[in-house]
Order: sequence, then C-alpha cells, then structure tokens
Amino acid sequence: MIRAVYPGSFDPVTYGHLDIIRRASKMFDEVVVCVLYNKAKKSSLFSVDERVKMLQDCISDIPNVKVDSDSGLLIDYAEKIGAHVSIRGLRAVTDFEYELQIAQTNRLLSHGEIDTVFLTTSLEYAYLSSSTVKEIASFGGDISACVPPAIRKLIEEKYETAGGDAGM
Ligand code: ADP
Repeated sequence: MIRAVYPGSFDPVTYGHLDIIRRASKMFDEVVVCVLYNKAKKSSLFSVDERVKMLQDCISDIPNVKVDSDSGLLIDYAEKIGAHVSIRGLRAVTDFEYELQIAQTNRLLSHGEIDTVFLTTSLEYAYLSSSTVKEIASFGGDISACVPPAIRKLIEEKYETAGGDAGM
C-alpha cells in the first residue's frame, strides 16, 4: 500500500488544494492531508482545529483521504505514519525554487526515505493561494470562485467579526 502525505498550512483550504487532493487520491492508495503548523507562529486566520475540520468537510466524499495535523518536521511525521511520498502543488516558476529547496532538504534529512511528487496546478487555479483569498475577503470581495460555499461563509464570518481586521 502506498501512502502519501500532502502537507501545507491550508489557512484556509482553496479549490486549488482540493484539486490536488482529488488528483492525488487517484494516484495513491491513501492520502493523508496534514495541516503542519509552527507553535511559535500565531498569525493564521483559522486555528489548526478549524483548518482540519474545514478540510474534513470538503473531502468527506473521498474514501482514501484522511486529514491530520502536526507541529513537527514533515519527515518525522511521514515516518510516523509510514509515508514515503510527499505531495506538493506547483503553480508557477516562483513556487518551483522554494519547493525544490524543501524537497531536496527533506530527501537529505530523511536519508532518501521521503520523495516529493509535484502536481502542476490546474490552469483555472494557477493564480489561487490562501493569502490571495484572505486578501480579497478582507476587502469584502467575492471569493466564490476560490473556495467552496461553506468555506466562503466561514471566511466571511471571520472578517465580519474582526471588522476586516482578521489575520492574513
Ligand atoms: P498556500 O498558502 O500557498 O496556499 P499551503 O501551504 O497551504 O500554501 O499549500 C500547500 C501546498 O499546496 C503547496 O505545495 C502549494 O504549492 C500547493 N497549492 C496551494 N495552492 C495551490 C493551487 N492553487 N494549485 C496547486 N497547488 C496549490
């Protein structure tokens, strides 16, 4: 059985992430989407539990996808769950340099145990990132093309209660 991990901050999950998850679920026996967080960083819009719940709600129809969270290194998490593949999405050349560096580092630190598989974004989501979604929402813009309706509602609620001053 080949288990892959798809790590990210998912703050919040977008159609771009969901597209990668669906495509990866057809390539691997099991995909574990892992909300990785840094305990020292407090600048997220959604809590880790909220992010996990949002992901779970969005992928509940895909039987071989699970959602989890972890605050450690990806390679340690991957070893813990027995995954040898990390999935990452590539949107543009700007993602590539950063992603290549992380992929090389993970291979080195894991002594070759973890390989990264890159999936290129579907063209309609190439512009999409969690930060863009938050920025649009903070100005009261329409994010319906970026996230599923239930997620959109939660994002808008955050900015309504914070008066447009929630985290980015
Ligand atoms: P971001 O804040 O940039 O959305 P995440 O850490 O949540 O970043 O992203 C996790 C992974 O998903 C990264 O590999 C990122 O490149 C990928 N990703 C994010 N948005 C998209 C998209 N629109 N299309 C394809 N991959 C994406």
